[in-house]
Amino acid sequence: MTARPRAADVMNRAGASRPGRGHPTLDAEVEHVRREARHRFARFVLDSANPGSYFRNQARRPLDRGVFEEAGGLGLMRFSLPVEAGGEGRDKLAWGVVVEEIARLSRDPGFAVLLDISVEITELIISSGTPELIERYVPDLLAGRRFAVQGAYENRDPYDFTTTARLEDGVWVLNGAKRFLAGAAFADLFVLFVRDEASNDMLAFVVEKDDPGVAPVPMDTMGLHTMGLGQVLLHDVRLPPWRLLWRADALSELNTYARIRRTMSACGVLGALDAVVDQCVDALAGRRRGGRPVLDHTNVERSVGEMRMLLQSARASVYRALDGTRSADRDPYFDELATVAKHQAAESALHVGRLVMGLQGGEAYMATFPWERFMRDILGLVSGQGSQETLLIQLGQRSIVGREGRQVREDAAERSVAGLADSWWAMHAVAASGGADGFAGPVAEVVSAAGLDPVGQASREEAAALLGRAHALWAAVCAGAAPDALPQGPAGPAEGPFARHATRAWALLACAVAERTGLLARLLAPRTVKEAAGELPVVLAEGLLEVLVDAGVVRRDGEGRYAVDEGLERVLIGGPRSAAFAARLRRAVTGGARLMSPAGVLGRESAPGCGDEAAALVDALVHSLLGRLEGLPGVLERPGAAVGCAAGDGGLTAAALSRHVPGVPVLGVEEADRLALVWLPVAGLPGEELRRAVVSAAAALVSGGWVVLPCPLPPKRPLGAAVVRLGLAVAGGAVLADGEVERLLRAAGLSHVRTAWEDPALGIRLVAARRP
Ligand SMILES: Cc1cc2nc3c(=O)[nH]c(=O)nc-3n(C[C@H](O)[C@H](O)[C@H](O)COP(=O)(O)OP(=O)(O)OC[C@H]3O[C@@H](n4cnc5c(N)ncnc54)[C@H](O)[C@@H]3O)c2cc1C
Repeated sequence: MTARPRAADVMNRAGASRPGRGHPTLDAEVEHVRREARHRFARFVLDSANPGSYFRNQARRPLDRGVFEEAGGLGLMRFSLPVEAGGEGRDKLAWGVVVEEIARLSRDPGFAVLLDISVEITELIISSGTPELIERYVPDLLAGRRFAVQGAYENRDPYDFTTTARLEDGVWVLNGAKRFLAGAAFADLFVLFVRDEASNDMLAFVVEKDDPGVAPVPMDTMGLHTMGLGQVLLHDVRLPPWRLLWRADALSELNTYARIRRTMSACGVLGALDAVVDQCVDALAGRRRGGRPVLDHTNVERSVGEMRMLLQSARASVYRALDGTRSADRDPYFDELATVAKHQAAESALHVGRLVMGLQGGEAYMATFPWERFMRDILGLVSGQGSQETLLIQLGQRSIVGREGRQVREDAAERSVAGLADSWWAMHAVAASGGADGFAGPVAEVVSAAGLDPVGQASREEAAALLGRAHALWAAVCAGAAPDALPQGPAGPAEGPFARHATRAWALLACAVAERTGLLARLLAPRTVKEAAGELPVVLAEGLLEVLVDAGVVRRDGEGRYAVDEGLERVLIGGPRSAAFAARLRRAVTGGARLMSPAGVLGRESAPGCGDEAAALVDALVHSLLGRLEGLPGVLERPGAAVGCAAGDGGLTAAALSRHVPGVPVLGVEEADRLALVWLPVAGLPGEELRRAVVSAAAALVSGGWVVLPCPLPPKRPLGAAVVRLGLAVAGGAVLADGEVERLLRAAGLSHVRTAWEDPALGIRLVAARRP
């Protein structure tokens, strides 16, 4: 009999790529290391570190110094250190799992974390590159013969530290106090972060506990009584120069240290959390309430389920942070995943502690059971390794700055393509100068702004020849008959403004062809020429890619693969913004053709803000503007409401309006009079026609309705502004004087006139006005 087919056979996709083996998950990798950790270190934790823990904690006595030496002997301190330094060279994921596992088995919370502190301090010493420091301390630290901890905290901002270092006759003199150090009670070495009296910079020194003037003092705390928490006082401690870890900017190094410590603290918390959840359920196993085992009560099952959920969510963020430590792109000073992991693990632990208190009842409050200790100990996480609150502040700041940076990159990428279009128009202006009936003024402006006047006959002919080849290529590509190779680009010397504009104009053409043929979009992921070419002849694709690389639009990596500038992603992944980008490129090409051959007619669909650009603007209207145009949502929702479209672009804008404002009919302005909204693109309308259009729009609106006018927003750069004027002239309109649109709206009796939205990268602003 054949086995009954099961849904899981189809729905579990993992086996498809690796039959019989499944997908190698991160969890599986972690489990592999965990087994190794248990095999190598469990006996040590259970037999050597744990005994006496309860009474040590009661007596507030720190862990025994010898246990760290034993850990060193077992290779724990070497585990993740570089092989060149005498370590095993394992990565931080493996070390994090070891820390987690030791914390899970340990009765002393903080023991695993202390091991990690000494390991990270050893790394800091190695990073100094100072042979005296490395030779004197690293072998002892690896063997566990010495133990090192870190002190920065003073309850002050770093540049306000009162613990200082002063250079006197070649000797550093340290004074002050570091007020919170884990392991201060049994450490032999302290890496202390202090303020340089002369420069105010932060410096870090290795200080030995036996250096004259050093006094570690114990500190009473709420919990973590075996962690040896304490303070270190410094009085005229005189250190030779080689004890200085780095010559300057130790604050950056402290941030690097905090980055990994946050992840490792979270690993320690995770282990402790796992253990307490297990112990809590075990302890409830024999208890009966209401005549039934408490574990059979639904509310108890729910609480156990919640603990499990908290544990697993902490685990997910911690393993992700550990995995992130292996990324080459990791920020050296701030690690978002590490910060999230510490925050999440701490919040989960605090919440689990509260649930355990509830589940264990009266025993939870008795000091002879582990629960109250767990609760007190984990409260140390509220501020240890960066207070929970400041972690959130840092995450927020990072995310806001990151978003702004992304926006700047995207705008810059679009602006650089717009810059190529400027040169494209400049070449056309050169070719058309002296002719171009009707456009002489704007043509001359472009030539002058491009620094290309006076135009000689030779330049005119060279520009015309280049553009002839460019337009022939475009026509062939549009007709689906792309040539096998890229035609000859600009000829002549590559220096001087003419050559520069010619090269960039050719790059604009390459960009337009690459966009139209899908070549650019294929480069969203790195591709070889062959992969990128798609249907295009490979030699042509190669030629286009070379031009685009020279123009900075595309990058070539070390393995010869091509990828588009990351900033262009938003205009290539599809959607309204991509359509608008393509429309701008097309407008440049067809506008240039129109200038070279004035007999041609440009339809309104090529005007800025119309045609394929409309969807991006209507999207902005709905998602950014609707709430800002007072009363418009209500007017649109009224029975019988309609939208008027005066774009005149063959229905493209009307279709975009219908899609983005569904359920409200879109009509021509002339056919309707009680409109809630009128959409009236300004570009391509000569002055008097625009005035009439504004008057009709105002008359067609209901009281409280709005008119929105997409208007060209010329860039600040003079050539860009001159190009916009020439482009508009070619499209049959003109750039209106500043404030002219607003004046026309007011003259038509409309109120609340304002620029409601603008996007310099699109080169459009939306002016809005309301019918009173
Ligand atoms: C168990 C434990 C072990 C520790 N071990 C060590 C150690 O080994 N070595 C060491 O050097 N230190 C150690 N510390 C100290 C620890 O590093 C600091 O307590 C921690 O970094 C928080 O700094 P803080 O105490 O100055 O609190 P603050 O940073 O002052 O945070 C307190 C509150 O101030 C507010 N705040 C702070 N900054 C801002 C800001 N920029 N904007 C707005 N609000 C802000 C927030 O509301 C925050 O919650 C330990 C602490 C604990 C609890």
